[in-house]
Amino acid sequence: MTKTIYWLKGLDCPNCAQKIALRVGDLEIVESADMDFMRKKLIVHHSEEHSRESIDSSVKMIVGKLEPDVEVLDYEQKEHHEHHHEHEHCHCDDHEHEHEHSHSHEHGHEHSHSHGKGESHTFDIARFIIAGVLYAMGMILPYKVPSMVLSLCAYVIAGYDVVLSALRNLVHGEAFDEMLLMFIATIGAVALGYFDEAAAVMLFFQVGELLQDIAVERSRKSVTKLLELKPEYARIIRDGKELTVAPEQVETGDIMVVRAGERLALDGEVVEGSCQLDTSAVTGEFLPVSISKGKSVLSGCTDLDGVIKVRVSAPFKESSVARIMQLVENASEKKAETEKFITRFARVYTPAVVACAVLLTVVPCLFLGFSQFTKWLYRGLLFLVISCPCALVISIPLGFFAGIGGASKQGILVKGAKAIEALSKCTAIAVDKTGTLTKGEFSVESIVPSGISQQLLLEYAAAAESVSNHPIALSIVKHCGKTFAPGEISNASEISGCGVECDYNGKKLICAKREYLVDMGISVPQAQSSSTSVYVSCDGEYCGYITLGDEIKENARQAVAQLTQLGVDTVMLTGDKEQAAAAAAEKLGIKNYHSSLLPQDKVTKVEELMKASGGTPVGFAGDGINDAPVIARADVGFAMGGLGSDIAIEAADIVLMNDSVESIPKAVAAARKTMRIVKENIVFALGVKFLVMLLGALGLAGMWMAVFADVGVALLAILNAMRCSKA
Ligand code: ADP
Ligand code: MG
Repeated sequence: MTKTIYWLKGLDCPNCAQKIALRVGDLEIVESADMDFMRKKLIVHHSEEHSRESIDSSVKMIVGKLEPDVEVLDYEQKEHHEHHHEHEHCHCDDHEHEHEHSHSHEHGHEHSHSHGKGESHTFDIARFIIAGVLYAMGMILPYKVPSMVLSLCAYVIAGYDVVLSALRNLVHGEAFDEMLLMFIATIGAVALGYFDEAAAVMLFFQVGELLQDIAVERSRKSVTKLLELKPEYARIIRDGKELTVAPEQVETGDIMVVRAGERLALDGEVVEGSCQLDTSAVTGEFLPVSISKGKSVLSGCTDLDGVIKVRVSAPFKESSVARIMQLVENASEKKAETEKFITRFARVYTPAVVACAVLLTVVPCLFLGFSQFTKWLYRGLLFLVISCPCALVISIPLGFFAGIGGASKQGILVKGAKAIEALSKCTAIAVDKTGTLTKGEFSVESIVPSGISQQLLLEYAAAAESVSNHPIALSIVKHCGKTFAPGEISNASEISGCGVECDYNGKKLICAKREYLVDMGISVPQAQSSSTSVYVSCDGEYCGYITLGDEIKENARQAVAQLTQLGVDTVMLTGDKEQAAAAAAEKLGIKNYHSSLLPQDKVTKVEELMKASGGTPVGFAGDGINDAPVIARADVGFAMGGLGSDIAIEAADIVLMNDSVESIPKAVAAARKTMRIVKENIVFALGVKFLVMLLGALGLAGMWMAVFADVGVALLAILNAMRCSKA
């Protein structure tokens, strides 16, 4: 199975987008097709054997029929198109006027982006004003014929594009769309002699469409701006000279210069200078962070003052910015049930409505005679205008899109609408202890040897731990301070969630939790401490333990309380021993916890929670050093983006960029709000439509109300959906 992604340049009509996706999905050679209207992206799944060309041409044919103005391009071309922009910026960059320049950058960007669109809007606005004036004059004039002529002029000026596209539609033999409906309905009015009504309704419809367009475009922009973390250029030093290049051209090991006000283009380590860093774009945290030599820094952050030099640690493709953008870019592919519902709904809804309209026109005539045919035909047409599902088709994906954008502003990266939907229904969230609820920065509290010196016990422990990245390991190695030559340690292996084994200068060392040594047949006493403890053995002989303290994260207790308030149970799952777990749970106010779990036990526990919850989704949040399987298994997996490992981030549905537990209740609240608004829109749009359809069928709703039910409702739903992006 492969996936081909198209960029439908110029796609504006949500209903048509929906139709395109349906048609493409129905193609014999296509498995399924998804539309991401917000990004104008068509994702086609198909099996390998069908050549790209045949799919290309089928897609182009369908789009050409439904939306002849839309260009079908490879999605990659969109990125190329955008890169092009950046290259231009690089050229014109000069090093003198920093601020002015970054200003003109933005300006240029905005301008070139909005140019085409902005102009067409001004043109539309102008012609609608003219049409409005002509219409008003027609109304004022007391003479019948001139006022009819004025109305007709107003009609043509306001609606010529509707008429053209309707005619084109008729020629192609396409099913009803909005344009065709408006055309037929207003032509109906003209035929009945209501010129002024035809003009007014057309004008009303067009203004509604224009407002809708502007609203969607603005929301598209404001949301993508939140996600536009991509720096436009990087300054690097090559051959002693400072160069400005595109981030893609920077290589690992290059020295990058970042000045005040600039955004870091790549990840790396500071080698010179110090500054305050604004990490809010990445983490949603507005506190500036002090950065000095030796600290690692993430791309996407902004240097607030001072100049720093950074040794680049990974190419752009692997930088945190690229990862975030990748993640958000693909978010739309994980559609929520609510979104899928619309697709299924559209399949039955449209034919059903058309059938109703036909019945509404024909049936009364059969009983009452055909003398009133035009009256019932008019009602049938009204019925169709009212029924247009645009409001639903646009406001639902827009709501999710805005919700995802709003969450990202708080450092919460949601990988798809599906996660929002599941999270909004969560009643229990299991949370890992070390690194998630606690800081994961252990400090060695005591070293209790048995039969050997304290110094040697620490050395053994550090030797074994030098191969591990576990927070416990890092702190023991740091505490010891000794570095080990690669030849000294061999046969090292880490038992995830247990500890480490290795050969060190001919001795077989184990440094792990108590249970593991006991399983190995080594007799081990209990440590006299409630802190996290690791036990060391040498050649099968127990030789002491080390206890480590870890602090609970600030606000973790508050986060647990907030979750409780939201009706979500927090369950702590930890691989640590019972006493350490109990102490932490007490401090955090968590009643439900499970200790001494191996990574696979955490999966089992989450599965138990899923069973117990009776179908409502269960979340799991972990820092991911060994939590990836659980994160993947849970209905909603959270990973800590800063501390977390790549595998965990990959497996997660939601990534918390600021590593803060507090983001969990925030995410729940944001998800619930988004779902509430999406549902509001569904109920509102369908409610108004059914009501007006009923009124229309009874002859109580005129053309005005019909057009309001179409464009007015869509506009209100769009504005409502935009609330999802506000925190
Ligand atoms: P948590 O579930 O709280 O995140 P882990 O599953 O990472 O904790 O680890 C559980 C326990 O396993 C730790 O408390 C520690 O006793 C032991 N352990 C895990 N990794 C190591 C290691 N590298 N060295 C020593 N002990 C370890
Ligand atoms: Mg952990």
